[in-house]
Amino acid sequence: MAETKSTCCYCGVGCGVIIEHDEGVITGVRGDPQHPANFGRLCTKGSTLHLTAAPNTRVARALYPELRATRNEARSRISWDGALDHAAERFAAIVREHGPDAVAFYISGQLLTEDYYVFNKLAKGLIGTNNVDTNSRLCMSSAVAGYKQTLGADAPPASYEDIDHTDCLFISGSNTAFAHPIVFRRIEDARKANPAMKLIVVDPRRTDTAEAADLHLAILPGTDIALYNAMLHVMLWEGWVDEAYIAAHTEGFDALRKVVRAYTPQMAAGICGVPAADIERAAQWFATSKATLSMYCQGLNQSSHGTHNNAALINLHLASGHLGRPGAGPFSLTGQPNAMGGREVGGLANLLSAHRDLANPQHRAEVAALWGVPDVPAAPGKSAVELFRALESGEIKAAWIACTNPAQSMPDAAQIARALDKAEFVVVQEAYATTETAAYADLLLPATTWGEKTGTVTNSERRISRVRPAVAAPGEARHDWAIAVDFARRLGHALGNPLTDALFPYADEEAIWNEHRETTRGRDLDITGLSYATLETEGPQQWPFPSGAGSGKTRLYEDGVFPTESGRAKFVAAEHLPVAEPVSAKYPIALTTGRLRDQWHGMSRTGTLARLFAHEAEPLLHLNQADLERRGLAEGDLVRVSSRRGAVIVKVAASDSVRPGQAFLPMHWGANTMGGYGVNVLTVSAFDPYSKQPELKHAAVQVEKYAEG
Ligand code: SF4
Repeated sequence: MAETKSTCCYCGVGCGVIIEHDEGVITGVRGDPQHPANFGRLCTKGSTLHLTAAPNTRVARALYPELRATRNEARSRISWDGALDHAAERFAAIVREHGPDAVAFYISGQLLTEDYYVFNKLAKGLIGTNNVDTNSRLCMSSAVAGYKQTLGADAPPASYEDIDHTDCLFISGSNTAFAHPIVFRRIEDARKANPAMKLIVVDPRRTDTAEAADLHLAILPGTDIALYNAMLHVMLWEGWVDEAYIAAHTEGFDALRKVVRAYTPQMAAGICGVPAADIERAAQWFATSKATLSMYCQGLNQSSHGTHNNAALINLHLASGHLGRPGAGPFSLTGQPNAMGGREVGGLANLLSAHRDLANPQHRAEVAALWGVPDVPAAPGKSAVELFRALESGEIKAAWIACTNPAQSMPDAAQIARALDKAEFVVVQEAYATTETAAYADLLLPATTWGEKTGTVTNSERRISRVRPAVAAPGEARHDWAIAVDFARRLGHALGNPLTDALFPYADEEAIWNEHRETTRGRDLDITGLSYATLETEGPQQWPFPSGAGSGKTRLYEDGVFPTESGRAKFVAAEHLPVAEPVSAKYPIALTTGRLRDQWHGMSRTGTLARLFAHEAEPLLHLNQADLERRGLAEGDLVRVSSRRGAVIVKVAASDSVRPGQAFLPMHWGANTMGGYGVNVLTVSAFDPYSKQPELKHAAVQVEKYAEG
């Protein structure tokens, strides 16, 4: 038996794993005791990874390229050369006739950093379109915009070890116990070690995380800003703000002070639906603890004002001086294993390599010079929702989708289906043959996956870990970066671009990594000192890690200097805004969706293991007993849940985790497992104006007893 160190492919905790394998078969997995993210622990998903790996699993892997000539016929096996030549010809024809913005790439926070880098360069450097976006848009883009508006850079300032040093942990919009289980175990340990530590949880639902809290603020969905503004109001009234920190390290506080004047605890209690006394207590614990750490996730981000949700929470840290010290700071948790890596290489429609901004002409010129191309186009690319709307309208004609399943995971799933139906040419690059999105593929390209790939990922605490292969890929599956490079070379030649070979010279992942490292020189995330060899000998490292550094940085902004023009952090004076789709007489229930403990995304991997259904076997609509009685429903009845966009039929469960007028539905079930268009037929595609992240956390629905026929 042999062992290979790698990283878990599920959530953004980024746990180290040791893969056990024998004669080309993965036989087991255990936590890596030396990895600083988990110190040997694994959750239910991570500890069963080996059972989801080929050939142990009954999951249908994509094994060979498959092509169909028309939508009405089945795909047939084709050679790699035939598949990529065909793709290059179709893309080149569309670009020649309609321009570069008629094609788009939709990629994934589950790709490795090296994969991401190549796709970004292919779109922006070779084709000349910024139409490259990712499913990370659905989970982290509001956190990115929130950091940039306040602290000046997309850089989470804290680390997991701050959990061990904090006296007040403020968890907002995160069911950490389910979505980041190993972080939650660390929280449990820290509370045992420090029984005086306060845990405040802000969540409309009484989740397992909220159950553990000293104070649970069950705010109404979308009212976060009112809560944080009221907490700041209390801090100001009581003299709990850190005037010295504000004066020395920030700007814009006077404007914010004026805004929060109106947010009395009583006023906010009316908006948020929680007692004023609880808001006052939260403000006291937050401001007066020795060190306060905030952890937050999709509850803040998946909102039509997600950027300001983030900024309003970061305001509290700046106002109380809880930043840049052990145990203190705002700390966004990433949902996916490499959402951070994607941000680092600029793999979103509005970003460029190394946290540069597409809108900045100097940044575009720097990237063009690094890549050796005349320019990077200035026209903004389409973000996820915009991209699929443009596909439906015909503005975008061809889409290349890699390692993600938008037909299951995007909001307003019926619109996504229409868009994929309408597209002239859809390429799906996937490890799994049977995803909802693969059904729309004109060309299906088999990709390698966990246990087979090599490269790097970055977790929530800026820690870069190696991903290593333990076994060979099944069938003809190829690595994602290699598929992208092979396609890029063929497309570049088809378009007559003389720079093609120079743009994509890579022999392996390490060559891509080294080019990526060079783009970060002098930037906030400088990793010029972090070679594969250093990762090999020193293990996972946090950025920044510039040339000559002996280690990365645990904590940012310890000197109180921020990467803004003035060197000061900026307060954002944000006002409370309503949700995009308020409840109404016809749709009176506020629906929120979220994760279960033992499932991952669209269940392509976890859905193949019976034991991972022991916790929750099917999608249940969690509804308060009062709402069941009002509708004459009993536990287990089938109900029709409908929104303005479509409906699903599910069983109902009585639950006091939601208040009357609210409902919860797990996000994991799509068309394949639930029929119709899946859970996301209900959700809303309205998005935040800054981050373009859609409001997946709130939709107005009706719930009625389902009568067959
Ligand atoms: Fe994997 Fe996340 Fe579980 Fe760690 S906490 S084992 S990264 S799913």
